[in-house]
Amino acid sequence: MHKVVDLLIAGHGLAGAVLAETARQRGLSVHVFDTKKPGNASTVAAGMVNPLVLRRFVPSWRADEMLPLATAFYEACDQHFSSGAWHPLPVFKIFPSPAEANLWERAMAKVESAPFMTNDDRSELVTSGISAPHGFGTIPNAAWLDVLTFLSVQREHLEAKDAFSYREVRPDDVEGAGAGVRVHGKEGRWLVHCTGPFSDVKGLVPVKGETLLVRIPGLEIAHILHRGVFLLPLGAGLFRVGSTFKWSDVWDGPSEEARTWLLARVEELVKRPVEMLGQEAGVRPASRDRRPLLGLVGPHEALFNGLGARGVLLAPWSAAHLLDHLFSGQPLDPEVDLRRFA
Ligand SMILES: Cc1cc2nc3c(=O)[nH]c(=O)nc-3n(C[C@H](O)[C@H](O)[C@H](O)COP(=O)(O)OP(=O)(O)OC[C@H]3O[C@@H](n4cnc5c(N)ncnc54)[C@H](O)[C@@H]3O)c2cc1C
Repeated sequence: MHKVVDLLIAGHGLAGAVLAETARQRGLSVHVFDTKKPGNASTVAAGMVNPLVLRRFVPSWRADEMLPLATAFYEACDQHFSSGAWHPLPVFKIFPSPAEANLWERAMAKVESAPFMTNDDRSELVTSGISAPHGFGTIPNAAWLDVLTFLSVQREHLEAKDAFSYREVRPDDVEGAGAGVRVHGKEGRWLVHCTGPFSDVKGLVPVKGETLLVRIPGLEIAHILHRGVFLLPLGAGLFRVGSTFKWSDVWDGPSEEARTWLLARVEELVKRPVEMLGQEAGVRPASRDRRPLLGLVGPHEALFNGLGARGVLLAPWSAAHLLDHLFSGQPLDPEVDLRRFA
């Protein structure tokens, strides 16, 4: 019999994978197309979930709403896939100066920031031998999503249901079909473009990011450290260090400039030998106002993009919001509606 799925999805980065999984949870059927392109964001994402903007110590956009939703979403995925991709992991923010320590104290007194900040956990930093002469603060409800594991278990689940194709979706591949669209022989009520930085969308700003994989013998920490750069423990003495932000030459791949800069920052932070094992570069699909980009781009086509530097935190809310719009007719929140850049 001729089968029409509810959603065709182009792109299996965080946006496409979270959308497919949210659809599954709602009983909607999907077929995902993906082709891996150099520069894609999700395969190099560090995967941190940090609800606080570290330059100003204010909550990130709607963090009070996004964080519980993201936590519940990834916990449910872990349970469903038995994957172990979600790791609650506090961030220890080390203050480089007394001025920053004061800023932290002032932010802690504010109602909107206070839920994301504490001054506890002093002992752990002392035992790991990290120098923090001006002190540090803790972001207790931060977390790490092992994005590669999340993407691969989710893809395997789709493949097992014959709902994944390693195919590129080009404009010429999309044709109208009844009350929906057809792509590479598959029909769907909606096609959602989740093609990240490879999209031509008004308001989208590609931002290059680079990280290092390093080994630091003898350093044992059970939290993320941040001072200029973050240091994310992966186990077995391995750490991810990042990230850089660059708005020009974004497709150029790993650079010596970023490697030198990141290594200098991490050596300053840990004050012990650091062995570099790898370097990765990707392009964040950011938007001009740092909000997601959601909405319709055709009679049966929609777009899910603009996850920027906080894709892990924003994707579950964004996916749910887009599905509410497509399948229940709920209006799009103007803050994420892509028409704001029309
Ligand atoms: C260095 C770095 C560090 C980061 N660290 C973090 C972090 O710690 N925490 C966090 O929350 N976020 C982080 N991010 C941001 C995060 O990676 C992004 O927000 C998120 O991955 C964007 O996902 P996406 O699915 O929109 O795009 P992508 O991951 O780029 O996915 C798009 C997918 O679509 C595919 N594709 C493109 N065109 C087509 C087509 N025509 N047909 C089929 N497939 C197509 C691409 O190959 C890719 O697989 C980081 C990003 C970088 C670069």
